[in-house]
Amino acid sequence: MTTDMRRPRLWHLPPIGVGTPDVESADSYLGRLAQAHGVARQTLHKFINGHGPAIYQNLRGQPPRLDVPSQQAAAYMRRVAELVGHPEVETLGLGWLADRVRAQHVFRSDRGWCSACLAERQAGSGLHTPLIWGLASVTHCARHCVRLRTACPACGAKGSIRRVGAVDGASCASCGGTLAAVGGDAAEPMSDVEAAVLEQMGLLVSVVASQAVGSESPSFGEIVTALHRRGHHVKACEMVRRMGVSKGTVSTLMRGRTQPGIDLLLRLSTAYAVQLPDLLLRRPGDRDWLKRAARHHPVVWPSRARPRIDWAASQRVLELEMASEAALPVAQVAKRLQIDPRHLMTQRPECAAVLGTRYQMRIKQEREREGDRVLAMVQALDEWPSQRAVARDIGVSRTSRGFRGAWQ
Ligand SMILES: [Zn+2]
Ligand SMILES: [Zn+2]
Repeated sequence: MTTDMRRPRLWHLPPIGVGTPDVESADSYLGRLAQAHGVARQTLHKFINGHGPAIYQNLRGQPPRLDVPSQQAAAYMRRVAELVGHPEVETLGLGWLADRVRAQHVFRSDRGWCSACLAERQAGSGLHTPLIWGLASVTHCARHCVRLRTACPACGAKGSIRRVGAVDGASCASCGGTLAAVGGDAAEPMSDVEAAVLEQMGLLVSVVASQAVGSESPSFGEIVTALHRRGHHVKACEMVRRMGVSKGTVSTLMRGRTQPGIDLLLRLSTAYAVQLPDLLLRRPGDRDWLKRAARHHPVVWPSRARPRIDWAASQRVLELEMASEAALPVAQVAKRLQIDPRHLMTQRPECAAVLGTRYQMRIKQEREREGDRVLAMVQALDEWPSQRAVARDIGVSRTSRGFRGAWQ
């Protein structure tokens, strides 16, 4: 008798909302699956990962790993689909976008949620997290027209999406307070751009991965040529104006030097009111490619140019940092000021130099203090049989700088 390899080995849990804008994220599905089995996420992960060549060491790190456009994510969800015996599970997340779009900046770094949706789900069919809430460009809930929240109303804590397995998405991980509010948030009108983005991202997450199989990813040049043939005004200067990007960006894309990020494709699709998924996949024999119009009107984007830096305000912060005990490195100070560190170094070289020197001094002092501490511990021992034994006795790594210094 042979074992049936296709027999599902995990609970046959159906995914929620496949093919709709409300489809749940892969992360959400795995959270519910772990809950259905009554095990921790990490236990479930080990089981899945162990059912073939390991795919992920662990699930921490890059946010949210299982949903990103990557081959690894796609392989992982394929395996989960086999184990639960539900082919639709394979289509969760944006794994199908691997190699079609750059994975950076697709997802937000903190959790976003609609408190009205959470309240409804708590009362009804159970909790799942829609994939669309995680997308960096999405600002509103399509069903309630309220702005997505990113901070707990009680304690203000933000939920990093690097945390794995917060399936009970309705309570704050910091204070335990509820994130669901019945009729709590007032509807907030969306700008034309926000509404267009919401519609396009809804279309994107509704794409069922199997539709992408065998399709190709058209180049930016091909898209522009096709738009031109359909009668759209695609002169470079007009694209620059509508998309709110620089001339350089458009010409780089036209030359096909770089793969466009999701932001640029989103700007292109909304500026010409064509459907975003068409910019990412062209199915063989699809006569309607790029002919399908979006429901929204073409939008003109505000310019992507970075907001001007208020150097007068920044100078005060810089002066405080230059005198502060903490002696932070330039990169951290730049981050506080929301300035690119290289920009800070070219615009305020003298400040950067002071910060750099102070930081190095601090590190040097910390090392000396550590060296002295280890040396004192070594000297306090009665005998030194070997490096290894001494290091073990004082609980310091034998290869650490402090120990090596003390031993000499
Ligand atoms: Zn909602
Ligand atoms: Zn809280």
